[in-house]
Order: sequence, then structure tokens, then C-alpha cells
Amino acid sequence: MATQEFVQANEIYAASFKKPQLVPKDLLIVSCMDPRIQPYEQLGFKIGSGGIVRNAGGSAHNALPSIIVSQQNFGVRNLAIFHHTDCGMTKFTTAGMREKVKEANRGREGVAELIDAIDFHCITDVEESVKSDVEFLAGHSLIAPGTNITGWVYDVETGKISKVADALTSSSSI
Ligand SMILES: [Zn+2]
Repeated sequence: MATQEFVQANEIYAASFKKPQLVPKDLLIVSCMDPRIQPYEQLGFKIGSGGIVRNAGGSAHNALPSIIVSQQNFGVRNLAIFHHTDCGMTKFTTAGMREKVKEANRGREGVAELIDAIDFHCITDVEESVKSDVEFLAGHSLIAPGTNITGWVYDVETGKISKVADALTSSSSI
């Protein structure tokens, strides 16, 4: 079972564990939960430095509560949104996903309303979805003034990243 695998792996890890220093970095990464994406390794982060929010697709919409926490509690002013090629979120639509969940829960009361309230933020074009997420954050009233937001595509074929969007929220007008 998958859980036994990670329990055993953790025993080996903990056996030679050295507690890392917490070195806050003014950067929050938003990335997909796809297991081919390993931001710490791919972006050279050391353990203890640099926050990462992961969800299906790397959606900035679904990461918003965590982004706000990072800004208000840790003063983060650099956000980097990563989506990636061959993402699973390009392979279905929110409407299709809702139908699937409804079908799987046929006869259960209240499920239709619950699922209709969820936007999965599916992706049609990876580059466009990154740009759209950066625009969403740049225009969001709860993102701190003076926040630098960059958008990136990670290529699962080459391991390379490329920047496709860049925005700076306006400084406070006062
Ligand atoms: Zn993905």
C-alpha cells in the first residue's frame, strides 16, 4: 500500500534527520499537484526556505487563501505562478467534472448543489491560463500593493521553465 511505502521511507529519512533552519524567503510559488512537478528540486529551493502552494493545475484562484496568509503573516511580496505542459487539468472541463461527480453520487441529497458551487479552474491553453491567473491576482483587491507577480510554464519534457507573464500591483495611492 502507498501509505506503508511512505511510512517506511520516512523512517529512513528521520534516522538521519537534521532539523533545518527556517530561513524565510520573500517568495511564494503556486504550482500543480502533479507528481512530475517537484518545485524544491526544480527551482533549487533549500528545505526551510520558500513557500509552495499546490493544487490541481496550480490555480491562483484556488490558492488565494494561502496567498493572503503569506502576504499578511509573512510579508511575501513576490508571487510566482507555475502551470505546466501536459497538465491533467487540460483534459477535462469544469462542466464535465461536475457531471462525473454527480454521476458518482447519484441519489445522494445535496451533492448537486455542492458540486455546482465548485469551479475547478480547468485549463484550455497552459500559457493563457498562466497569464489569466497573473491578471487575476494583479487585479485582486486583497493582493498587497507593490506585489511582484510572475507567471511561468514548466515543460515536463525538458525540465525547463519559461516566463510568460509579469505584473506589479500598484503601490498604495496614499
Ligand atoms: Zn498539472
